[in-house]
Amino acid sequence: MKEFDYVILGGGCAGLSLAYELNINKKLESKTLAIIETRVEYKRDKTWSFWKVTDHNFDDCVIKSWNNFSINSKIGSHEIIDKEYPYQTIDSGLFYRKVLSELKQNKNIQFFNNTDKLNLDSSFIFNSIPSKENYKTKLWQHFKGVEIETSKDIFDDTIFNLMDFNCDQRDNVHFFYTLPFKKNKALIETTWLSKMDDKTLIDYDVQLEKYINEILKIKNYKINYREEGAIPLFYPLNKIEKNKINIGSAGGMTRLSTGYTFLNIQDHSKYITNNIEKIQNVKPYHIGKKYEFLDNIFLNVLKNNPDKMPKIFLNMFKASSKAVIKFLSNKSNIYEDLGIILKMPKWIFIKNIF
Ligand SMILES: Cc1cc2nc3c(=O)[nH]c(=O)nc-3n(C[C@H](O)[C@H](O)[C@H](O)COP(=O)(O)OP(=O)(O)OC[C@H]3O[C@@H](n4cnc5c(N)ncnc54)[C@H](O)[C@@H]3O)c2cc1C
Repeated sequence: MKEFDYVILGGGCAGLSLAYELNINKKLESKTLAIIETRVEYKRDKTWSFWKVTDHNFDDCVIKSWNNFSINSKIGSHEIIDKEYPYQTIDSGLFYRKVLSELKQNKNIQFFNNTDKLNLDSSFIFNSIPSKENYKTKLWQHFKGVEIETSKDIFDDTIFNLMDFNCDQRDNVHFFYTLPFKKNKALIETTWLSKMDDKTLIDYDVQLEKYINEILKIKNYKINYREEGAIPLFYPLNKIEKNKINIGSAGGMTRLSTGYTFLNIQDHSKYITNNIEKIQNVKPYHIGKKYEFLDNIFLNVLKNNPDKMPKIFLNMFKASSKAVIKFLSNKSNIYEDLGIILKMPKWIFIKNIF
């Protein structure tokens, strides 16, 4: 049986980000690391986007960034400009390539498909594999996206559309998200905030085709790439154990109200790396109790009043752009929080605190 100082379960975004951070900070020169990953091939499977409110290691994997974005709904539209915090998009294929080529140069790092040949008793474990419980009746952000290419220049690639509520809501919250990478290429996603027990919502291809044809008025296009996913808007129950830290989505790095996870994973990786020598005794990393509290109220409002959400989102983005971006990226101060809270319909939110 082989023994390693550290074992990372799951070599996806969180597992690889942590391994990369440890490696570039020379924490694996005299320590060994095993990464356990079941996938046989790494290729583009996700498109990670976020407002760059902190530095990260992957600027060279960014395929596009924007300073402007819009929100559309049947009751109005709003455009936001913010030069301070660009919205960046990372191609996961570029991320995997960069990280794997770096890690493969270190003989102390080895990859395995499972833990069968490993003795884990003396290893410290970082786990990014979600628990297998059935969470269908909890709230998820689930979506499908297609990257389309058109023969003519159609998109304004200087502005992306964060949310377009001009679509059927089916008693849930539904919007489209469009990232124009070029004037003739964009990722368009149909996104639902709902439970996962309603199969009628997952006719994603029909929704996408209708939106592209009828709302974007694009008839001729080819699809270059597809991605589909479901992000839990709750903290999955992973057991807390001695000698083990949960990371990534499994470790509560998802911002519940938005699904944004990527930059929190990077911050968590830095925290672990900075404390790796005393990892057994370090205080658990948390993206913020304040956000957990506010997001739970927000999600209660969303569950109980899905029809009100387009207006609530639209109003939220009418607060100062800097405040909204920092709030959604869990970097806001109390004054910025108050600026957002005051834009919310007070009575609905008060009713949903309890
Ligand atoms: C399609 C998609 C798009 C997203 N877009 C964004 C975005 O724009 N912005 C953002 O902030 N967040 C986004 N997210 C949310 C989040 O950033 C990603 O889900 C991110 O990949 C989470 O990282 P993770 O390491 O927790 O999970 P993953 O990246 O899924 O990694 C988990 C790894 O564990 C492996 N695994 C699973 N079971 C086992 C097992 N039994 N043994 C060994 N290995 C196993 C899997 O193969 C996988 O590689 C997106 C999520 C999805 C699904």
